[in-house]
Amino acid sequence: MKRLTILGATGSVGASTLDLVARNPDRFSVTALTAGKDWRRLAELARTFRPDHVVIADEAAFADLAEALAGEPVTVSAGAAALAAVAREPADLVVAAIVGAAGLPPTLAAVEAGIPVALANKEALVCAGSLMTAAAARTGAALLPIDSEHNAIFQVLEDRSRVSRIVLTASGGPFRQMPREAMAAVTPAQAVKHPTWSMGAKISIDSATLMNKGLELIEAWHLFGVRPDQLGVLVHPQSLVHGLVEYVDGSVLAQLGPADMRVPIAHALAWPERIATPVERLDLAKIGRLEFEEPDRERFPALALAEAALAQGQCRPCVLNAANEVAVAAFLEGRIGFLEIAAVVAATLEAMDSRCPESLADVFETDARARAVAQQYVTRAKQSSFAGQRAAG
Ligand code: NDP
Repeated sequence: MKRLTILGATGSVGASTLDLVARNPDRFSVTALTAGKDWRRLAELARTFRPDHVVIADEAAFADLAEALAGEPVTVSAGAAALAAVAREPADLVVAAIVGAAGLPPTLAAVEAGIPVALANKEALVCAGSLMTAAAARTGAALLPIDSEHNAIFQVLEDRSRVSRIVLTASGGPFRQMPREAMAAVTPAQAVKHPTWSMGAKISIDSATLMNKGLELIEAWHLFGVRPDQLGVLVHPQSLVHGLVEYVDGSVLAQLGPADMRVPIAHALAWPERIATPVERLDLAKIGRLEFEEPDRERFPALALAEAALAQGQCRPCVLNAANEVAVAAFLEGRIGFLEIAAVVAATLEAMDSRCPESLADVFETDARARAVAQQYVTRAKQSSFAGQRAAG
């Protein structure tokens, strides 16, 4: 029996994880569940999965959550410190499925406590990958990737010293074939409609801009220890091949599977074993052909921005991530246009200096400064055709 702590239990990855838990009651039990604000859903999950502890990050939601769970045998707490504390409590695996840099403190807390982490929260690695991997090396905590591409690489990675290239596939998102001018008018509702995966709003927008693939390159660099120039991206609209490793002898090992997050999550939950899942099986004869194409970095400049941040290192990935979180939130709220997401990120990167974050405090400081700068560009973008000016410039 593995005891799980699920950070971000009310989200899309949280739901897929809990689906697998419910199907395997003899293998998994739930020690703790957390959410950001959604106390109603968290209370429902607590009644179903009977954890010892639930934590809501939003302190204003504590009273409602505590009242909803009054009389239940569960400890209820709230706030950022409680979130990090629950991640350190004894468990066999912490599933890190909070969205954004908000997931960094509890995820790092789990790693520092030596607890294996099944990692979906890519932003935590993008912001503080060196701190996270150093802590994992120190405590021996395994980092098991849930992101489908990284989980694919994890499955086919043999001897790292014989790897010549690691390729992450990208669906290309909903605007893969759309001319750049037309993207100026796309709405949040269109952008969250991913063609192959069903996911939370932020990662869906990141997939539409291809920033998601850029964040994943940075994530892969931290996880797999290869040089940035050994990492590549291939657009594969069918989302059936999730990642490929090319070895020095010319062999390429790839992992295939249906576009259902329960496959990589099941792999991470059961590792080093495997468990059955109810997902639809691949019928390659019916599929017939697998299609691939190069990503278009002119129409999707966010990918190039992330690649440059990876190559430059230091705090550039943290700045990129913070600016992107601000810009995506502004787009989802209708405050800026789709093209302005990458424009805000580019302007923030240009405006910020580059330093090497040595501690978690440095990361938070950089993250906070980058968010403040990005907010200024969001305000400016609202007032003018900012993306158009930048493209012209
Ligand atoms: P969702 O938006 O569906 O869920 C996010 C979860 O994080 C929710 O439980 C939410 O709580 C919680 N949360 C949000 N803000 C905070 C905060 N400030 N403090 C604490 N908890 C918070 O996201 P996804 O499940 O789609 O994605 C989660 C992570 O996994 C992301 O990093 C994403 O990039 C990665 N990922 C997701 C995939 C997917 O298929 N969805 C695939 C691969 C990676 P509440 O519900 O209360 O807001």
